[in-house]
Amino acid sequence: MSYWRLSVLPGFILLAGAIVALMARFVFSKTPMVGALADQVASYAFPVALVLAFVVYMWNLLAVLEWQRNPDAAACRHCGGPLGHIKDGRWGPYSKCFACGRNTPRT
Ligand SMILES: [Zn+2]
Repeated sequence: MSYWRLSVLPGFILLAGAIVALMARFVFSKTPMVGALADQVASYAFPVALVLAFVVYMWNLLAVLEWQRNPDAAACRHCGGPLGHIKDGRWGPYSKCFACGRNTPRT
């Protein structure tokens, strides 16, 4: 079973950090009003995104490891895969599957 969805959100966070850093470095740093601020943002955006992506990845990985360790843990009703953290939704609490990405209601 593939758990590639563990790295989707961290990947987007890294991409957003890189885009913000590049925009600040090459677009806004030439602007007289925000040039100094843009240089600060350019130097901190990607390292902050890297740390945030690592924290999100580890948070999701811990959920999968906890699921693997607990034999009574709820599984995805579609594929039997590991479920993520419980979220509040319109129709009650649910969890998203790390394997197939579909939702399973939690009670
Ligand atoms: Zn599933």
